[in-house]
Amino acid sequence: MQKVPIFENQPLAPLTTWKIGGPAQFLAAPRDLEDVYALMGLAYDRGWPLFFLGRGSNVLIADDGLPGLTLHLAKSLQKLEHQGETLRAGAGVALPRLARQAAGLGFSGFEFLAGIPGTVGGAVRLNAGAEGKNLAGVLRRVWVATPQLQLLEFQAGELGLGYRSSLLLSFPHWLVVEAEFALETPAPPQAIEEKMRQLLAARKARFPANPRSCGSVFKNPADSPAAGALIDQTGFKGRRLGDALVSRKHANFILNQGRATAGQVKGLIADIQETVWRTRGVALEREVVFLPDDLV
Ligand SMILES: Cc1cc2nc3c(=O)[nH]c(=O)nc-3n(C[C@H](O)[C@H](O)[C@H](O)COP(=O)(O)OP(=O)(O)OC[C@H]3O[C@@H](n4cnc5c(N)ncnc54)[C@H](O)[C@@H]3O)c2cc1C
Repeated sequence: MQKVPIFENQPLAPLTTWKIGGPAQFLAAPRDLEDVYALMGLAYDRGWPLFFLGRGSNVLIADDGLPGLTLHLAKSLQKLEHQGETLRAGAGVALPRLARQAAGLGFSGFEFLAGIPGTVGGAVRLNAGAEGKNLAGVLRRVWVATPQLQLLEFQAGELGLGYRSSLLLSFPHWLVVEAEFALETPAPPQAIEEKMRQLLAARKARFPANPRSCGSVFKNPADSPAAGALIDQTGFKGRRLGDALVSRKHANFILNQGRATAGQVKGLIADIQETVWRTRGVALEREVVFLPDDLV
């Protein structure tokens, strides 16, 4: 029996960092695993497409919105428990909260997460990282709910975690429910907090002030200059399509300067990919997820 309220025709743009995109046909926020199963079962029974949204910091939602049911997880699955030498975090836990919790317990290794504005679920899915570190370095186990309403458990080593990739990308209807992190490197909390402050200050200096972005649009290609450098070299800094603007400070960021549409952002992305391919021979791969396009 499904008890969670389901809202019809709900705007999704406010639930994303880009503040772009149309409405969800149906939107619900499961509180716990029981709710997740009930909602997944309902979507299956009705034949509705199913989408997941964490803090919306790595998605571009289409201007027409999303058909079917979207599960909003930013305020769901908030468990964060210290168990022996591990931290167990629900999928909805914000990464900065996870970093602060580890610091408070006196464990280093999570500082790089302090500036990433996503959830544990979104981060596990693509092995989020920064400052040369990524989630794989601290992740131990993951629990995933499937559309067949099974709960699968994976060791981190089974997930094929690589640079902004994991096997979970091939299973878009698997919902990361919980993750277990290893607390391995004791350090004084004050020293960890100081390191986090320094990392956050360095990010602030490097990244644009406008928070309406998805962070890096493209992955850094292997054996080539970074995506931002390639985009800069091809003259895209400051390029604008409507209210979508390639940042002058960091060319791998596209900013919403007001009322940018998903169509405008996609137009800029396609222009960049085409030009970088033609002039530099490098195929830039998107890090940002297009919804629904990438998941149907
Ligand atoms: C200013 C800024 C800076 C950023 N810096 C970094 C950085 O340094 N490093 C980095 O790696 N990323 C960075 N990002 C990108 C983003 O924060 C990360 O990718 C983050 O992990 C996304 O989490 P989310 O909860 O926002 O996911 P969302 O954007 O909500 O979703 C992303 C994808 O994950 C899926 N998803 C979400 N939750 C779940 C779940 N529980 N189970 C299964 N699938 C799920 C969604 O369906 C979608 O396909 C940055 C973004 C911004 C805006």
